[in-house]
Amino acid sequence: MQTLVPLLQEESMPGRRAVQLPEPSVPETALPGDLLREPPKLPELDELSVVRHFTRLSHLNFSIDGQFYPLGSCTMKYNPKMNEEAASYGGFRRAHPLAPESLSQGSLALIYELQAALQEITGFKAVSLQPAAGAHGELTGVLVIRAWHTSRGETNRTRILIPDSAHGTNPASCTMAGLVAETIPSDSSGGVDLEALRAACSGENARTVAGLMITNPSTLGLFERNIKEIISIVHRAGGLVYGDGANMNALVGIVKPADLGFDVMHLNLHKTFSTPHGGGGPGAGAVGVSAELAEFLPGPVAAKTSEGYSFRMPSRSIGRVKAFYGNFAVLVRAYAYIRRLGADGLRRVAEYSVLNANYLRSLVQEHYPAVYGAGRWNMHEFVASPELANGIHTLDIAKRLIDYGFHPPTIYFPLIVKEALMVEPTETENPETLEAFAQALLAIAEEAQNNPELVKSAPHHTPVGRLDETTAARKPVLCYKG
Ligand SMILES: *Cc1c(COP(=O)(O)O)cnc(C)c1O
Repeated sequence: MQTLVPLLQEESMPGRRAVQLPEPSVPETALPGDLLREPPKLPELDELSVVRHFTRLSHLNFSIDGQFYPLGSCTMKYNPKMNEEAASYGGFRRAHPLAPESLSQGSLALIYELQAALQEITGFKAVSLQPAAGAHGELTGVLVIRAWHTSRGETNRTRILIPDSAHGTNPASCTMAGLVAETIPSDSSGGVDLEALRAACSGENARTVAGLMITNPSTLGLFERNIKEIISIVHRAGGLVYGDGANMNALVGIVKPADLGFDVMHLNLHKTFSTPHGGGGPGAGAVGVSAELAEFLPGPVAAKTSEGYSFRMPSRSIGRVKAFYGNFAVLVRAYAYIRRLGADGLRRVAEYSVLNANYLRSLVQEHYPAVYGAGRWNMHEFVASPELANGIHTLDIAKRLIDYGFHPPTIYFPLIVKEALMVEPTETENPETLEAFAQALLAIAEEAQNNPELVKSAPHHTPVGRLDETTAARKPVLCYKG
């Protein structure tokens, strides 16, 4: 990391230019006076200064290509450059969504083959690639659940049960779909409290259950050992089970969610199947469903006939959830990734992501114990509850990690863990990187003991220190003020 880049120094010089416009080839005409305004205040710079300015700015950002990025739940794995090359092939890049099917057979074949690959990976009978993100897939899946109940005349089924460890998008998606989110507490081991679930699904309550939304492995990075029992409690009450598939990195190639009894699930193609993400997009939230729900999926979906590939709308479709055919370039990347790895490679993704998380957890557990899952293996991530001296909080640790050149892990999520520090190393990191990160965490534990002010006032090597994170996101100061 560079230290203290002089970002705030004014570099504009009157008269400097990076562009030269050609002499006009038409006669000059005066513009009407009411169209003229004061010239905008723009910096005046030569081209090289502009290039250096933006290159320097880009290096201030953390990125997977630059630094270890263990942001829990987000699966910030390395995205192979081969995917980018595939997505930039002219035939894909220049494909036009309004071109006739006869001229789009290659793109259609890719969509069809990707649907088929994801069906094989998850065990579901049908997949729609329309949704543009995980949260969008959740909304889609809940709308499918609602449409299914409505088709059976069961409009009284309005409650969606959601464990308290869930990602915030789960209750939000459910509310947006017009259903009512109801929290189910976790038990002392971090799993779903079965008694609470049974109570929410029995007697009079059974008639109003639309379904359950559950993440497995949970956001604690733990496999839900009672998953079969949980699913059967909900099924017996007449509800459907939605799987939040954001944590598929731990299961891919090993477990098919449909085999566990899930009815609907989204996959974050940009997480498990590697597209650069963060900062808001673009993504893809493919949704897989059981045979019973297949005709409710949003369309169009790709089909294969003796005449070639074509699009069709499922017969009882909830409709479109996105213009055209989803984020096509993300689909190309996911397809390239799956084909490159094959079944064995995908299985190794899960194995190494689990191995890495457990290795890292073992290196830091003295000062960063995982409160849930003690004595058990974690899946692809773990949630630590740091125990550092002198009132050092997780926020301080996260800020100090920036000084050590690491992107901080996810903090204060899931909400049920005090001072949560959620670490997901992913399968793409080598042992040396994990060890260097563990050393930084242990060094911070020692600083907390001997020099707590250093940690509390971090970061020290960045142009700006601790921002008000809400205002920084909602009211960013991005304009050149001159
Ligand atoms: C990332 C994530 C989501 C939301 O996915 P987006 O693609 O960001 O919309 C939902 N649930 C979990 C557990 C996640 O990690």
